Amino acid sequence: MATNTPITVAHGDGIGPEIMEATLHILKEAGARLDIETIEIGEKVYLRGNSAGIEPSAIESLRRTKIFLKAPITTPQGGGFKSLNVTTRKMLGLYANIRPCVAYHPYVDTLHPKMDVVIVRENEEDTYAGIEHRQSRDVYQCLKLMTRPGCERIVRYAFEYAVRNNRKKVTCFSKDNIMKLTDGLFHKVFDEIAPEYPQIENEHWIVDIGAAKLADTPEIFDVIVMPNLYGDILSDVAAQIAGSVGLAGSANIGVKYAMFEAIHGSAPRRAGQNLANPSGLLLGAVMMLVHIDQPDIAERVHNAWLRTVEDGIHTYDIYAEGVSTQKVGTKEFAQAVVDRLGQEPTKLKAARYSNAPQQDLSDRKSHYVPEVKQQIGVDIFINWTAGTAEDLGSALSQVAIDGLKLVMISNRGVKVWPNGFPDTLCCDAWRCRFMSSAAENGPVTHAQVIAQLQALLVANYDFIKYESLCTFDGRPDFSLGQGQ
Ligand code: NAD
Repeated sequence: MATNTPITVAHGDGIGPEIMEATLHILKEAGARLDIETIEIGEKVYLRGNSAGIEPSAIESLRRTKIFLKAPITTPQGGGFKSLNVTTRKMLGLYANIRPCVAYHPYVDTLHPKMDVVIVRENEEDTYAGIEHRQSRDVYQCLKLMTRPGCERIVRYAFEYAVRNNRKKVTCFSKDNIMKLTDGLFHKVFDEIAPEYPQIENEHWIVDIGAAKLADTPEIFDVIVMPNLYGDILSDVAAQIAGSVGLAGSANIGVKYAMFEAIHGSAPRRAGQNLANPSGLLLGAVMMLVHIDQPDIAERVHNAWLRTVEDGIHTYDIYAEGVSTQKVGTKEFAQAVVDRLGQEPTKLKAARYSNAPQQDLSDRKSHYVPEVKQQIGVDIFINWTAGTAEDLGSALSQVAIDGLKLVMISNRGVKVWPNGFPDTLCCDAWRCRFMSSAAENGPVTHAQVIAQLQALLVANYDFIKYESLCTFDGRPDFSLGQGQ
């Protein structure tokens, strides 16, 4: 007999406990092989003074089972409380967020009856690395951090997902026409990995027109992989236009751990009234069953659910006169699904999950070719309010040490010296670029950078930070000032 898989379950806040009870009832009746450890997270834990919303004993359970089925929680209003979702995602290294966004036409109202899109969102990097600073009175920055290993594993995950789930195409969204290095890396890695999957079609869209197309004709997309910020926004858009924010589930996958949930929140106003739709959490649980290698149970649950929706048995949120046959509460909906276990939909496409095990991707080779890195300059950021760009350019040119010269100053990314445009809005932080005075693209050493900082210190300049300017195999991998 197959052994049970230990999982950790949190019943959450608001409608959480009701939809979790409904979900677990269906899983049990479908024969899911689970050993459940229950933990408490969310509002009560926050209000006990734990700013993370999760106790160490609950984290222990997650470490043990590695699989987390989570109901939505309420984050209390006001400062000091950390988002539990962000904490778990980071703590457990859940780098991939998977959100299938499917239309259930004609049973659930939608403008896009043929929509069946899966958004694969990178979950850890980009502007969500959480590296923000205030540099001066005027300037605030958030670092957009993209790494080669991070891009490689999310792009691979998207292609592997496509293969396992019989998908035909993976589309990449990025904004590499503007962010040539960060989004450029994402696109480049996509182009490197796509040929490993010749059976899967691949394409790239700039995210703005891609998003417009997704909102207008989502049926032309299949699997879409994207960096964190675009994925955060567009996975909500996609779920909404499928007509089914209350129906969508989501998986957060890491190398060791995985978390499954509904995409909606705890809907506190609907709590305790047997009203909420448990479908989002149930479809999250279906993804969990596939992940823990119980595809037979996943298929049984998913098809019984599709049949229930098709039979017009609907909770209030999707109930429509003339389409629905019965308006039911959370418990009755769950019972209707249980009653249909073993049945399949007759009009909607039936779910099929195979026994294909999750691939261990750790042995996959990177396409990275070793390069020679060479520092050729430094951008020193200075907080300064004593005059114009011209004034700063002339003054700093005098402070450049032997062997370095000031070649450019930019403000808000726009070149303002030499030959700036007088109408450019300048604020109080300036990027001052020093490069070798001996030879174009000649080497610049750390010792020279330190000497340059020392010279600025002696001349009373308030520097904020510096960034090294490097070439890789002779190619400068840093942006020019706009207009440089
Ligand atoms: P929400 O998703 O809870 O509710 C938005 C709307 O959708 C409400 O009108 C609600 O009645 C309806 N709705 C949501 N889920 C439903 C369901 N299953 N069945 C029927 N109707 C449903 O979003 P919100 O009101 O902005 O947030 C409420 C709380 O949830 C906040 O504290 C927020 O922080 C939290 N939240 C938690 C998560 C999570 O734990 N993953 C995600 C989002 C929001």
